[in-house]
Amino acid sequence: MAYVIPPPPVVALPVRDTSDLFPVHRIFCVGRNYAEHAREMGHDPEREPPFFFQKPADALIPGGGAFPYPAHSENVHYELELVVALAEGGRDIDAARALAYVFGYAVGLDMTRRDRQDDAKQARRPWEVAKAFDHSAPCSAIVPAHAIGHPAQGRIRLAVNGITRQDGDLAQMIWSTSEVIAHLSRLFTLAPGDLIFTGTPAGVGPVERGDVLDGQIEGVGDLQVRVV
Ligand code: MN
Repeated sequence: MAYVIPPPPVVALPVRDTSDLFPVHRIFCVGRNYAEHAREMGHDPEREPPFFFQKPADALIPGGGAFPYPAHSENVHYELELVVALAEGGRDIDAARALAYVFGYAVGLDMTRRDRQDDAKQARRPWEVAKAFDHSAPCSAIVPAHAIGHPAQGRIRLAVNGITRQDGDLAQMIWSTSEVIAHLSRLFTLAPGDLIFTGTPAGVGPVERGDVLDGQIEGVGDLQVRVV
């Protein structure tokens, strides 16, 4: 038997300081996981259970670099996020054991057509056009948990053209990495290669062509993106 068209290429992220690659299966994203960001978006963060959306794996920009400003938006926003890379899958994962499923961590940007997201919210339509467009997921190399542990705190900071716009701490996440994995695994059977973007701190805002985005997460790494 043969494929009738060429099968899609495997999407992969580099593993930092090695020549190894991490093959990506799916990209899950958590909405509103920092209280101050929930408030800036007009929501009450108190005890709202986590909710999820996806981006296609081939929306990744591995290692960062050029981000093409997408068509059909006049208001594209950055959202800097801790990314969790799963080495093992499963369902109904116990939060107390969830970190054992993690291969490592990365620094990601959940790029968003905010105007199209506002339209979708208004019309009660899905978010794909706002969140899952081509090149919407720049992401750094992955650093293995065996090298850095499982970061539960640490500064998460994004500068645009050298000016700090987001400046939070991983400890501000409403739902921790292990709680996010546990929740998500009740809704989907998780698989090796899945990535989880864990939400963004306050300070989101628009980008323009020519902007340079410089994201850093203490103990994890950094990510540079140029809007073209
Ligand atoms: Mn986000």
